[in-house]
Amino acid sequence: MTLLSIDNVTKRFGGLTAVDAVSFDIAEGEIMGLLGPNGSGKTTLVNLVSGDLSADGGRITLAGTTLTGRRPDQIARVGVARTFQLVRILPSLTLTENVMVPAVFGAKSHWGAAAHEVAQAALEQVGLARRASSNAGELTYIDQKRLELARALAAEPKLLLLDEWLAGLNPTELGEGVALIRSLADSGITILMVEHIMEAVRALCPRVAVMNSGRLIADEATEVALTDPHVIAAYLGE
Ligand code: ADP
Repeated sequence: MTLLSIDNVTKRFGGLTAVDAVSFDIAEGEIMGLLGPNGSGKTTLVNLVSGDLSADGGRITLAGTTLTGRRPDQIARVGVARTFQLVRILPSLTLTENVMVPAVFGAKSHWGAAAHEVAQAALEQVGLARRASSNAGELTYIDQKRLELARALAAEPKLLLLDEWLAGLNPTELGEGVALIRSLADSGITILMVEHIMEAVRALCPRVAVMNSGRLIADEATEVALTDPHVIAAYLGE
């Protein structure tokens, strides 16, 4: 069954068409990679799905519910959560406090003890439960990334958007990160991930969408895409 449907979506910045009539679907339970050279429109597309940007044309739906035209907080309640390229955590608050905020404002709007429970479960999912009362500002880079992921999970999303969540990790951390993403998919979350690390894309994503200059140039099995002459030409033209 289709969870996310992106249908003929366009976004312009002045004279630049950053996303140009892009269409593709993601099935429930799928981990899909979103590839393309720098400036091809990947983050813009993620921002359109999350509502951080509004589309100039086309329609995005999640399980049949229209997302286009809604605010980010409304889209979060429908079941979409995301991470950002530059981590957005609240450094002077504890890990629990960081994760309580999206538990309250997420899909099911938990309060009080219920929000606390959801927050704790999200910290457990990313392996940070034992540090729940530390200040977020004291965390290492990988743990800050884990915390940001926990914030997304605390909203109990159906669809998780990852924008280069694995970037900047060392090889050991990368292996842990890949395993963590896989465990989220195993728990039933559908994932769309912008990712440049091909080793991770190969390990996690059976299918990829590839963008170049705002257009979708491939939507196919990862093995096929990585040897597709159009895809290779797009990367070489970077
Ligand atoms: P990618 O994520 O694939 O690197 P982006 O979606 O960030 O690409 O950018 C696509 C294009 O849109 C680029 O040319 C970029 O400079 C431009 N762009 C992105 N955001 C804005 C913005 N807020 N205002 C103007 N141009 C933008």
